[in-house]
Amino acid sequence: MSTVEQQLDDLKAQITSELPNDVSVSSVKYEGPELVLYTRDPKKFARQGDLVRKLASKLRKRITVRPDPDVLSPPEKARAEIESVVPEEAGITDLDFHADTGEVVIEAQKPGMVIGRHGSTLREITKNVGWTPEVVRTPPIESSTVSNVRNFLKQERDDRRNILERVGRQIHREEMSDDQWVRITTLGCCREVGRASFILSTPETRILIDCGDKPGAEGEVPYLHVPEALGAGAQTIDAVVLTHAHLDHSALIPLLFKYGYDGPIYCTEPTRDLMGLLTLDYLDVAAKEGRTPPYESEMVREAIKHCIPLEYGDVTDIAPDVKLTFHNAGHILGSAVSHFHIGDGLYNVAFSGDIHYDDTRLFNGATNDFPRVETLVLESTYGGRNDYQTDQADSEEKLMEVIKETAERGGKVVIPAFAVGRSQEIMLVIEEAMRSGEIPEMPVHLDGMIWEATAIHTTYPEYLRDDLRDRIFHEDENPFLADEFNHIDGGEEERQDVADGGPCIILSTSGMVTGGPIMSWLSHIGPDPDSTLVFVGYQAQGTLGRRIQNGWDEIPTSEVGMGSNGNGGRGTLSLNMNVETVDGFSGHADRAGLMNFVKTMNPRPEKVLCVHGDERSTQDLSSALYHDFNMRTFAPKNLETFRFL
Ligand SMILES: [Zn+2]
Repeated sequence: MSTVEQQLDDLKAQITSELPNDVSVSSVKYEGPELVLYTRDPKKFARQGDLVRKLASKLRKRITVRPDPDVLSPPEKARAEIESVVPEEAGITDLDFHADTGEVVIEAQKPGMVIGRHGSTLREITKNVGWTPEVVRTPPIESSTVSNVRNFLKQERDDRRNILERVGRQIHREEMSDDQWVRITTLGCCREVGRASFILSTPETRILIDCGDKPGAEGEVPYLHVPEALGAGAQTIDAVVLTHAHLDHSALIPLLFKYGYDGPIYCTEPTRDLMGLLTLDYLDVAAKEGRTPPYESEMVREAIKHCIPLEYGDVTDIAPDVKLTFHNAGHILGSAVSHFHIGDGLYNVAFSGDIHYDDTRLFNGATNDFPRVETLVLESTYGGRNDYQTDQADSEEKLMEVIKETAERGGKVVIPAFAVGRSQEIMLVIEEAMRSGEIPEMPVHLDGMIWEATAIHTTYPEYLRDDLRDRIFHEDENPFLADEFNHIDGGEEERQDVADGGPCIILSTSGMVTGGPIMSWLSHIGPDPDSTLVFVGYQAQGTLGRRIQNGWDEIPTSEVGMGSNGNGGRGTLSLNMNVETVDGFSGHADRAGLMNFVKTMNPRPEKVLCVHGDERSTQDLSSALYHDFNMRTFAPKNLETFRFL
């Protein structure tokens, strides 16, 4: 008998002895990090609400209880019961019964009302019908990404359960080594921005953290083929942890499956969905630019199938000697500071991923409270000694000023923006300014993936700043549903109509004017001297955005996709519109934010590795942290290995 079988037998015996005599357990299984108990008495479990919680804390495991299939009420009867138990205001939109596992997935507009106070309504459901309910939110704005991911996972349910059982056995395998050490190897994003990737290893376990591309340098990928990484075979990786969905952290995650990786990806639920959206777009853009994409869309589906979503604060076993906990990073939807507890009190490492230290309109500031941390791996994007950003309130005021002046001239405001994060932040600023009368009401057109990304934000309000979350819970106060917002879904014809119309605001991808519908807006509105182009995000070297920012006003028509306009693509477009730059809407902490993150960190780490910034930023931040806080700091290069312990 293998050791995992033995372990499960022992657990079953222990659980049986802990439970009251009339509550039986027919089998126990691992599914990913969870211990699943099958019982013939689901209703009795539900009646004693504390039972599962007590077992979980006694066994120090995450526990799920499921009914044996033959004790279930028939779905049609269960449906009627559930609809009578759950208040009508919960707005159930779908019930999906899975007889093989006794689970019923309830999709509702107000999941909180299905759950009830401390889960009371959920227990009521099980008490009545025996089924184990699982609740998901109906997106307030229809999202094709969310529904595609959910449908796909539904269709792949059997396969997914096999994966989870296999992963569960891996996590709970017996430890083989008596050695004790912890190492971090840097595979990318050191003294550079982009291609984030690290290996965290112990004698027992190897974990890959992030696997991104380098924007503007497509060939430069993380050093995956060194022996410390996948050089020993992709199957030698135990787990992949994804801090957030930005492509410089996620783009090459699907590639791992092409290399033969078949294990779990730990991330938050919104990160999973956004990764799907952004990596599929990444393949699309590569194809349009005539590059060979590094993997096929099938690999994106594999990645999604292998995701194990975790919520902030869940302490989760991901290997025999490693526990992972995610915390809010304040950077984009679902972004997570990833904390690893290694061994039983042996060592603790936190990877910041990308962080924003202060609150923004969208997110609470990054969490920096941990039970213990000895080493912090810290992003340094704005770690340089002069990298102070404009205060957001001042930036907002300037942006409103620009909008007001442009509208008074009868012009239009065009804002190139990234679909995820900055667009929603700007939407909130504009919505409030219109509501308070600071700027006149006018249509705000959203083009490219912005609408879809916004829909994903509203699907996961738990991940947004407290007061914004509360507003989304009350449908009539959801700022993203404001009347001004219009989704451009009619293509070129609709754009022409908007261009021929009155004052308005247009938010469009791509954020650095490197392609996408913004090109079409430039060709429509670029020649109008009354209109204004406003940059709200960083424009990288070599992008059209940066060149326009630097004063370029004659753009070859081939650049804006007007090549077929009867001039053979050799003409130019005169950019007569005003060009403004408004800084201060960054999703990253600036120098002060990074210093404050470490200063107020509890407990303060002994060592800090400054990564994810150019050479100057990482070195500046490293020496400032050393001088101010007297800690050991490093600005590593790629392919360095640090040994702790
Ligand atoms: Zn990021």
